[in-house]
Amino acid sequence: MPSSLLTIPEIRLGEEFDCSCGRVHRVATRQVFFGDSLGELLDLVTGGFDQRGPTVVVTGPRTRTIAGELVKAHFTKHGHDSIVFEAERADIGTVSELERAASNCSLAVAVGGGTVIDVCKYAAHRLGIPFISIPTTISHDGIASPVASILLGSRRTSLMATPPQTVVITEPLIKLSPKRLISSGCADILAKTTSLRDWLLGHLVKDEYFCKTTFNLTVSALLDIRRFIDEGCRDVLPLASAAVKCGLAMALAESSRPCSGAEHLFSHYLDMVGEGVGLHGEQVGIGAILMAARYEDFDYPPQQGFELTFQDLRGYLRRAGAPTSIADIEVSEEAAVKALLECKNLRPERYTILHHAPLTPAGAYTLLKKTGMAGEP
Ligand SMILES: [Zn+2]
Ligand SMILES: [Zn+2]
Repeated sequence: MPSSLLTIPEIRLGEEFDCSCGRVHRVATRQVFFGDSLGELLDLVTGGFDQRGPTVVVTGPRTRTIAGELVKAHFTKHGHDSIVFEAERADIGTVSELERAASNCSLAVAVGGGTVIDVCKYAAHRLGIPFISIPTTISHDGIASPVASILLGSRRTSLMATPPQTVVITEPLIKLSPKRLISSGCADILAKTTSLRDWLLGHLVKDEYFCKTTFNLTVSALLDIRRFIDEGCRDVLPLASAAVKCGLAMALAESSRPCSGAEHLFSHYLDMVGEGVGLHGEQVGIGAILMAARYEDFDYPPQQGFELTFQDLRGYLRRAGAPTSIADIEVSEEAAVKALLECKNLRPERYTILHHAPLTPAGAYTLLKKTGMAGEP
């Protein structure tokens, strides 16, 4: 099958355009390639970059042998010096090390999973050089986003950065990736059903900035991921398309707002207190079940048609192979109640259902019971 360019009709990649929201949007991402052969896709990419300095290929110990060395060989074959940097942890120390190693480089290429992409994205941003994102899995919505999740000390922090100039998604590589990571990616994207409601709520109640184009793009990501799951999680294109759309939505909004609401605060709180064994997407998916159930206590904001009930969301998560209960990720009822009560304080300015309708301890427990995550008191 020939390599193909993934196009997003609503958005002009790499260009400025006036939007009905009143802003001029500019998406730094110029190209998104999707196909079967990494070599063929790289041939399409290489021409478009200023190659005055060497290229740094950032990869992980495992992905180095699967794809990292292949990418390095490709750049060498085309006459570009390149170095390989292995990133094992997405912490600020690793970012600084990469900055030193790549100080004379003019291009960074991330070949790997979330950790590799986060480290490369943030270091490239600080160095002021473009980066190419070549994900080997889709475990969350960060493959094309302007957000890097980096550990500052023991605290995981979402930092704004420049999104990738080019994204290269190779179907066989994604298919090779562990199923748990893909399930987690599905959960992170399915959770937009509550993050979008929170954004709309913030707009209607707090007169927060809102962009219909960005909103619709994220809704369309949600529909793509539902199609991926409905079709048995086999065809990588709708999964890739959903993740890229989320990234572009955050780039358009210049914030994680469209893709991160109370379900993310719930997950960030668990990270902060070191509770449970869930991956980011897994925690977020469970958070989204809770928030979807909480929204059912209100008839505001008005439904737009994309919303999932908590039962339907749980069904999608199950079929994607993702956990659907706090017990599945070893989070105790007490810790979950605490997270539901406290997590809104992590970002008081990001208005969500938990800010709009704060829970009491009894209310938080009722929510866990309603969603089948807690037994009788
Ligand atoms: Zn707009
Ligand atoms: Zn997320």
